[in-house]
Amino acid sequence: MTIRTIIAATLALATSAQAAPDDRIAIAAKLRDTALASNPAWPLLVDLTDSVGQRLAGSEAEARGRAWAKAAMQKLGLVNIREEAFPITFWQRGQESARVLGSNHSLAITALGNSGATPAAGLTAPVACFDTLAALRAAPDAAVKGRIVFIDHRMTVTQDGSSYGINGGVRRAGPAVAAQKGAAAVMIRSLGTDHHRNPHTGSTSFPAGTPAIPAVALALPDAELVGRLCARGPVQVHLVSTPTSQPGQSANISGEIPGSVPGEIVVLGGHLDSWDIGQGVFDDGAGVAITLAAAATIKASGPQPRRTVRVVLWGSEEIGVVGGRAYGEAHKQENIVLAGESDFGADRVWRVESRVAATGLPLFSEIAAALAPLGVQPQPGNDSGGGADVGPLAALGSGVLELAQDGTRYFDYHHTPDDTLDKVDRAQLDQNVAAWTTAIWLAASDDRPLRTKP
Ligand code: ZN
Ligand code: ZN
Repeated sequence: MTIRTIIAATLALATSAQAAPDDRIAIAAKLRDTALASNPAWPLLVDLTDSVGQRLAGSEAEARGRAWAKAAMQKLGLVNIREEAFPITFWQRGQESARVLGSNHSLAITALGNSGATPAAGLTAPVACFDTLAALRAAPDAAVKGRIVFIDHRMTVTQDGSSYGINGGVRRAGPAVAAQKGAAAVMIRSLGTDHHRNPHTGSTSFPAGTPAIPAVALALPDAELVGRLCARGPVQVHLVSTPTSQPGQSANISGEIPGSVPGEIVVLGGHLDSWDIGQGVFDDGAGVAITLAAAATIKASGPQPRRTVRVVLWGSEEIGVVGGRAYGEAHKQENIVLAGESDFGADRVWRVESRVAATGLPLFSEIAAALAPLGVQPQPGNDSGGGADVGPLAALGSGVLELAQDGTRYFDYHHTPDDTLDKVDRAQLDQNVAAWTTAIWLAASDDRPLRTKP
């Protein structure tokens, strides 16, 4: 090609209102390779991490995260930037420590989100040990009442993260089960796969009428210690955990590349809030940076898409998917044809999954073919859950796009002080951006129906 034809081709690409069907695939390949070679995800993630840091839901830091997100969207050329507020319960950890009485063992703990508080001076109680949540459920109240319940379930490493799904109930429901049986407090083995003395936080919940008792996670080495001590004989623990809860506020942020045909929207995004004990990089600064960078790549290097591309950065995911639920409720009348979220770290995408109307399956064949050079395989079936924040949209009928990431090391860092920038592999981060850019472009340049409900 001569310089003149290159310029002509570039101008044609930049000014054509809408890609012809045959061009969509070629443009997808071009966008994929452009994103792989250069995209703004890494500088965005560095800037979010260094200038804002951890972004606990409801905190002043989460609000600064929103200001950062709006400025980033503006800089990347997104328009119709919106902030939509919603109320939350603002939970903050207080003092936390634990030690085994009659020994010199202190335990590495972290309070679980939404958990209640011990007295300021702490509480001392005998420990009731259970291997699993099922064993706790089966126990008589008398074996639990007034005690600190310890649940020693074990999570294993899986590429797809399925072990988190299987074991997640221990953290989400275990404290409430113990509270209903009269427990004084709960300690769980962290939902994690590392063997550092880093406990993994995360949210729990107490149904109405169930007292919010103190609930903490133990680092894996500490959980193993307590398990061994339980096998030797009675164990007493002194526990201090003094979190507070108060009414607060969070918000969702969104920005768009308007489509050439109004009325059809493709949503992609991640969540802005994070836990307080790390820096919110893997969870979920990476998803924020990946999806912003994908939209920026389409905006800067592609023709105008047919459907509107909207990046949504949800607030308050960690403390109960409050942002995702609020977004679904506020946008239930909108024609969001497809939604996807990136919320599983920064390691490579290895699988593409869908849940769309039958008319959308040929689109997913195109997406799978375009992602194959990135090492991404299609997942058989058409029943993706999509993730926490898109769940409410999917329940309303939006189609689901899921780009599943390699979770082999995700639960080494998840919800720990080790969720820091140095853990991110930039090449894998860029592969994520390339995958999202490609899939979102193909969906947004298409017109085949995707919704599973009208
Ligand atoms: Zn997350
Ligand atoms: Zn999380």
